Amino acid sequence: MSILVDGERITKVEQGELPSPAGGQTIDLGGKTVLPGLIDTHVHATFMDRESLPLFLAAGVTTVRDVGAKLEKVTQLKADLNSGKRLGPRMFILGPLLDGTDHSFEYGGPMGEMLDSVPSPDAVPQKIGDLLKAGVDGIKLYFTLPPDTAKAIIKFVDNRVPVTGHLGYSHSLDLIKAGINGLEHVWISPYNDFCALDMQFGPGTGVMSMMDPKFWTVTVKGWEEADLHSQRAKTWFGAMVDHQVNMGTTLDLLWLAKCGREFAMQDPDRQYIPPMALKRQKAMIAHIGERPDWDMYPGFFDPAHCVKALEKHQEVTRILHEAGGLVVGGTDCGGLPFPPPGFALLREVELLAEAIGTMGAIKAVTSVAATYLRQHENLGSITPGRYADFLVVDGDPLRDTREIRKLTTVYRGGIAHDPQQLLQQVPKSDVRLGH
Ligand SMILES: [Zn+2]
Repeated sequence: MSILVDGERITKVEQGELPSPAGGQTIDLGGKTVLPGLIDTHVHATFMDRESLPLFLAAGVTTVRDVGAKLEKVTQLKADLNSGKRLGPRMFILGPLLDGTDHSFEYGGPMGEMLDSVPSPDAVPQKIGDLLKAGVDGIKLYFTLPPDTAKAIIKFVDNRVPVTGHLGYSHSLDLIKAGINGLEHVWISPYNDFCALDMQFGPGTGVMSMMDPKFWTVTVKGWEEADLHSQRAKTWFGAMVDHQVNMGTTLDLLWLAKCGREFAMQDPDRQYIPPMALKRQKAMIAHIGERPDWDMYPGFFDPAHCVKALEKHQEVTRILHEAGGLVVGGTDCGGLPFPPPGFALLREVELLAEAIGTMGAIKAVTSVAATYLRQHENLGSITPGRYADFLVVDGDPLRDTREIRKLTTVYRGGIAHDPQQLLQQVPKSDVRLGH
């Protein structure tokens, strides 16, 4: 195949060799694989050092969607990244996380600046109108938002931008029927539709907040016991497929459960945890104690107890995919320190591939993700007219998605970047591998 790039866009893709235009540069990629730049649909980029942002490119992630940040901060960051003033991926933004009147976590805490509240359905036109005027690329409903306010937001937005949710007080099935476009975290947003009735999230139930120490133990147990073939489950899968709602998976957060602590401690990606995230994580030692994996430890739950739950999340992903539903990859990098930016999506792809195969996993972070962002005419495939965002890999990711790591060049908008050079520039953390 030949790919012709003019400026920042792809202009031709043809079988065989194209004549080189006058003044053109020819690059021989014989024996290599070219695939679209990866898209991470769930990041929190204002919680990582600006100097760490090239990590995304170094791992092959050419586009990210920030799903929770202080509006002014993330608007500025988007402008800097999209203009090329700052080195890193293209960026789309959702602005703040929209709670109801209860707080999902502490507004005064280190990450509280990304929270905002829509106190009632009456407040929707002003609040959401302002966000749309500010140019957000989507709206994110958050954990404590009650169903009536959530539905009022979906109705007010009226499909002008995608609405997604990290749901708690609502049942996702209600909002799927109301027209929500995406759900975040396969293990949180659909939880109320799968768990035992006496284990649900929400007012009057056992778990009202993600800060509740019971939150993780209940969630993990709820998933372990969930029947994925019950009538309730079938109804949920059916609605997801009928309404073509995007399921953002974020399986990577439980990657530690899969690989085990010993393996994770040897993981070379650890050194790329951004200093800002490491600093935040250090404060957590007060809660989790001095442990050799403190820099990676999620802090709220023990990954070793999540193996069965993770298998269930992968099974939900598989059933949905095979029924014709939409699966998109996301990571929550920035929100949690590990896996670090960019590399988190490579972990996500590995876990997705186990559930939906290598091609399904790659599409979940390229073409399907681009359509979710309503950017399919610009991103997500190697097609004339799209941005020249693509990866050159010295391997075959369709055989094994871990081969994406054999990345030789990353193109963003036709500009080539050397992953190894980018990795030399980014700040390293001082965690000692294997200790
Ligand atoms: Zn998140």
